[in-house]
Amino acid sequence: MLKISEHDSVTLFYMGRSPLGFILYPVYAFLVGDTLIDTGTNRAGKQFLSALKGRTISKIVNTHHHEDHIGNNGDIQERFGLPIYTHLSALPYLENPRLNDLRLYQKIVWDWPKKSKGTAIGSTIAAGNHHFEVINSPGHTDDHICLYEPDKKWLFTGDLFCGTTFIYLRKDENYLQILDTLKKLSVLEVETIFCNLKGVVKNGREALLKKISKMEQLRDRVLALREKCLPPREIREKILGKEGAWNLITGGHYSKQNTIDSIIHGKRPDKII
Ligand SMILES: [Zn+2]
Repeated sequence: MLKISEHDSVTLFYMGRSPLGFILYPVYAFLVGDTLIDTGTNRAGKQFLSALKGRTISKIVNTHHHEDHIGNNGDIQERFGLPIYTHLSALPYLENPRLNDLRLYQKIVWDWPKKSKGTAIGSTIAAGNHHFEVINSPGHTDDHICLYEPDKKWLFTGDLFCGTTFIYLRKDENYLQILDTLKKLSVLEVETIFCNLKGVVKNGREALLKKISKMEQLRDRVLALREKCLPPREIREKILGKEGAWNLITGGHYSKQNTIDSIIHGKRPDKII
């Protein structure tokens, strides 16, 4: 399923698999000037490609290598012959998407993308009349970039922001690194966030500051209990409660315990031994 909307000259493509009539785990892609920012999931590929017909598009930028952001790279590149720009470290995943070790729920919802060929992005990139600063923004993935348009005060945040509340962490995310990156972004004047999960978020800087504040509070509560030598599981029970359905559906890929463990160890949960 695909839904198209406009916000301040940006076209938003909201898409995902919809077996029950609503979009399951939706993701946004954006068209700004002549540039597509991410290509969504190949589960909505047919509709997305036909929606792109007749539009002026000269390149793609990927915010990171995840399957729901590069999902239609291959088909679009094949059909329109467009160059793709992304972080240097994301390039191997574009050429060989199977490097991304998908869990069962990811295969069902998004599946592996087709191969595509990318080029390392520089520190700035133009998109029609817009000029973006490319900001390295690790935490969700090491190869994550955000795009900032200073004249419009737009910030395209990929999967780094995803709302002001933080409960579940992916096994390969780093909580404290996300927090550091959000702080780096919060010095920018941001009116509008374009988030691949939430779409348009107005009062962008306030939203960033709110998220930072909540994440700092959570970090401090966790570390205070750790000082008292509480085991990580008890800390999770006390602060975030029992694991919910999200942990079950994703087979532990996203969990509350990942959040607690990452704060305590300062690492990605999959790097904790
Ligand atoms: Zn992602």
